Amino acid sequence: MENKVRIQDDLYEYVNGEWIANAVIPDDRPTIGGFSTLDKELEELMMSEFRAFASGEKTTDIREFEDAIKLYRKVMDVERRNREGIQPILPLLHEIAAIDSAEKLNEKAVEFVMKQVMLPFECDVEVDMSDTTKYCFMIKGPSTILPDTTYYGTEPGNQLLGVYSTMAANALKFTDLGEEEQKKYLEDTLAFDGLVAQKVKSQVEWADYVSMYNPFTVEETAEYLKPMDFKGMLHAVWKDDIPDKIIVADPKAIKEMNFYFNEENISMYAHWAYVKTLLSKSQFLSEELASNSTIYRRTLIGVPNDPEMEKQAYQIVGALYAEPIGVYYGRTYFGEEAKKDVVNMVKKIIATYMDRVRNNDFLRQETKDKAILKLSTIKIKMGYPDSIREIFSRMHVNEEDSYYDAVEKVIAILLEDSIGKLHKTVDRGEWLMPGHMVNACYDPSRNDITFPAAILQKPFYSINQSASENLGGIGTVIAHEISHAFDNNGSHFDENGNLANWWKEEDFAAFQKLTQKMIEQWDGIPFGGDKVNGELVVSENIADNGGVAVALQIMHETEGADFQKFFINFARIWCMKANPEYIQLLLKNDVHSPCKLRANIQVRNFPEWYEAFGVTEKDQMYIAPEKRIIIW
Ligand SMILES: [Zn+2]
Repeated sequence: MENKVRIQDDLYEYVNGEWIANAVIPDDRPTIGGFSTLDKELEELMMSEFRAFASGEKTTDIREFEDAIKLYRKVMDVERRNREGIQPILPLLHEIAAIDSAEKLNEKAVEFVMKQVMLPFECDVEVDMSDTTKYCFMIKGPSTILPDTTYYGTEPGNQLLGVYSTMAANALKFTDLGEEEQKKYLEDTLAFDGLVAQKVKSQVEWADYVSMYNPFTVEETAEYLKPMDFKGMLHAVWKDDIPDKIIVADPKAIKEMNFYFNEENISMYAHWAYVKTLLSKSQFLSEELASNSTIYRRTLIGVPNDPEMEKQAYQIVGALYAEPIGVYYGRTYFGEEAKKDVVNMVKKIIATYMDRVRNNDFLRQETKDKAILKLSTIKIKMGYPDSIREIFSRMHVNEEDSYYDAVEKVIAILLEDSIGKLHKTVDRGEWLMPGHMVNACYDPSRNDITFPAAILQKPFYSINQSASENLGGIGTVIAHEISHAFDNNGSHFDENGNLANWWKEEDFAAFQKLTQKMIEQWDGIPFGGDKVNGELVVSENIADNGGVAVALQIMHETEGADFQKFFINFARIWCMKANPEYIQLLLKNDVHSPCKLRANIQVRNFPEWYEAFGVTEKDQMYIAPEKRIIIW
């Protein structure tokens, strides 16, 4: 024990160091510890459930499970998959290969959307940020091969493109293209991607969520998207009832689409779409094609192997039939007692939040009233939904279909449902996360928070843990999610989730100053051989900061509160051992800070940290009072 680091010098290492030193990252995952460990255990549990359902040993009255299990069997039927090889996707690939003019593309555009063949722009029906009772039609530029535009032209970027090229070349060998054509398709794919990368947003730009909302008229959008017949597409989908405005999430890419897509390079586009489609759908084909298609992604996150087939089957089915599976998990494993207990905790946290807003020293009364109104209308989604959305009962799987065709049909139903929403009222009861997901979220458009049953376990929460431990665990997570209502993005939305300015100007300026301080506190902190980008992670850091602040206030009101236990469990929930490649990827792309820093940097902002462990300026986990930030 004498070599052990002092808690005053490194909270995270003190709590998790020994565990991390001994932990082994599974060879089919990028991380282990905290969230990841719970997820792994849940996966093992649900896999054994699926095994029992598939063998007929177990049954459930959740009807949607029948189709989920049918699809599961198709994933597992590798003999048939291998026999069919690339065959199931060839007709679609031929359709893509035949595109050599804008006219032909326009004929196929809607069909391509339904079959997830990438167009020169991406589109989606989303909740309308300015009126969240309605949906809107949103478009943006295509996604790039590299995980962020900042990778292009760098050494790591070039290496990754090399890996991608090898993978794509392997996949192309399975097609009926000649050798020269295969080479040309690959060259064109990289060339088209290189053009796209010069126009689409970077991850830091995407992190500014509100800047996605740019309403354009249909006419001006159609003008930018030429030679695509955008209006024709809209009419083909919605007849006369086309959207009255288009929300452009990525204005530069759309306005300058001509740079990467025009009459002259239609074939280049088609070759890119061909390769992208082949690779993204390879997972539904033979074992060989499927395992080839994960090479790039696994390189990115440093994972040596694919999961065994049974796990793949569970993962794919678990994603497509997420809601019914989450409901099954919730009904089977989540107790009413725990649900009641955690709902009470959320209510207490919201009440405490209101208290803190009332006593806040940078807001005027009018802004405080609006913030309190927003807090009082937050809806709580706890555990899992009461009912399963109707769409899942329509996602049938035909016994005769190939795995590929079965998945295509299921995805088409999901897409039709999404497109059909455009003229419907937003269902505020819809859950963004299923019950079997180890995570939690705040939805700015619905002003609600979701806590799936799967996260309500140790170390986050347990009826058998002390109140102090639960507050350091799920308490800080709950308050984190609520804080998203008041982070640099959430602050732009009102109590109904609409984009609206409810701030007094001076108050917003004061908040922005604090946001800037938070960016500066984190920007440039060295980690994993790279450094933190303060701007990318600011929304999550504001949420973490609010999370700890509010949970700590409740600690002061809790009988027998043990602040040491609070901080120790807080560090425990962020325990993570990750592959170096994955750490690099997260630093560039993830809006969350590295787990270790979420524990170690954040606690230094709070006086309770210094009191709990007698931390002084001699210790490494000390920062001067004037450098400490508490926003909410
Ligand atoms: Zn968050």
